[in-house]
Amino acid sequence: MPDATAQKKFSCPSCGGESQWNPAKKALVCPFCGTVSPAQAELSATGAEVIVEHDLVAALRGIPDDQRGWQAKKISVKCQSCQAISVFDPERVGQRCDFCGATALVPYEEIKEAFRPESLLPMKLSENQVRDSIRTWYGNRWFAPNKLKRAALTDTVKGLYIPYWTFDAQVHARWTAESGYYYYETETYTDANGRTQTRQVQKIRWQFSSGALDHFFDDELVPASRGVQEAMLRKIEPFPTTTELVPYNPGFLSGWVVERYQIDLVAAAQEARQEMDEKMEQLCAAEVPGDTHRNLQVQSDYSGQTFKHILTPIWLLTYNYGAQHFQVVVNGYTGAIAGKYPKSWVKITFAVLAVLAAAGLLLLLAHHR
Ligand SMILES: [Zn+2]
Ligand SMILES: [Zn+2]
Repeated sequence: MPDATAQKKFSCPSCGGESQWNPAKKALVCPFCGTVSPAQAELSATGAEVIVEHDLVAALRGIPDDQRGWQAKKISVKCQSCQAISVFDPERVGQRCDFCGATALVPYEEIKEAFRPESLLPMKLSENQVRDSIRTWYGNRWFAPNKLKRAALTDTVKGLYIPYWTFDAQVHARWTAESGYYYYETETYTDANGRTQTRQVQKIRWQFSSGALDHFFDDELVPASRGVQEAMLRKIEPFPTTTELVPYNPGFLSGWVVERYQIDLVAAAQEARQEMDEKMEQLCAAEVPGDTHRNLQVQSDYSGQTFKHILTPIWLLTYNYGAQHFQVVVNGYTGAIAGKYPKSWVKITFAVLAVLAAAGLLLLLAHHR
């Protein structure tokens, strides 16, 4: 079999390194950053095997070089522990990773510069405001150890910009379903006393129905962060990207740490598509006439798909408790907060004992009445 990769060189859409064909994964895999780009092997007219990459990968790689780079001098380091790539001003001296606190930072050399964000959501909340809301948040975590609450008040919170991909698409969907209409029949039955009674019973009449629906998706967000878990980010969304984004300007990032995206566009696009499909199904379900429905089938056609790389602001508090690592994330625009925290077994035990004691007391009171 001819060597398929020899036909043409494919650079990685994320870092610019030369990707290698992986037949098992049916993808071009970057040995430098691990980005997986879907592709397929096809036979050419001469019978040679050629690799054809996914159109989205080609579109991403085809973005001209003048749309890359930060337009300001920056230093990039990669954390050996959490893998996040941090980008900051050369004057800044950072010995620790802002995402996990590790000291194992190595310079990150890019073969090709990162895509410049098209736009960003400027940081709105100050460190003091964020500190206040974290304090309140901790105050409401009953089972967090007291030691942690004290630490949370003194530890540094870091302001960061994190990467997102956003997707727009126009969707035309056609659907079919069986609509169910309720009707009632009178049934006679014999009650416990042997008397004949009547009652109304609900029945469903099924009827075929169909329709079409158009929907425009504006700014479906997919996180491209390694430093903050996606589940945590989902909890502090939404970021008001449809109304509040401003065009990229290096001035906004001066003095802030920015995380460079690492989720490749293809993976992000596939994730966004899946979410849009689910949303279309919900929208169509709401259109089906009748009191209930079953066997809903939705066929969606996508057109005018576009994507953007944007940055959103967060404040991050990281701390270690025992051997475990915890993060508290605050939306730098809306103030929404999410986080994990260790639970104090001492406190939980006392709470359980208190509940048992209360139950015991109630029993005792009941007896003495
Ligand atoms: Zn790469
Ligand atoms: Zn790290």
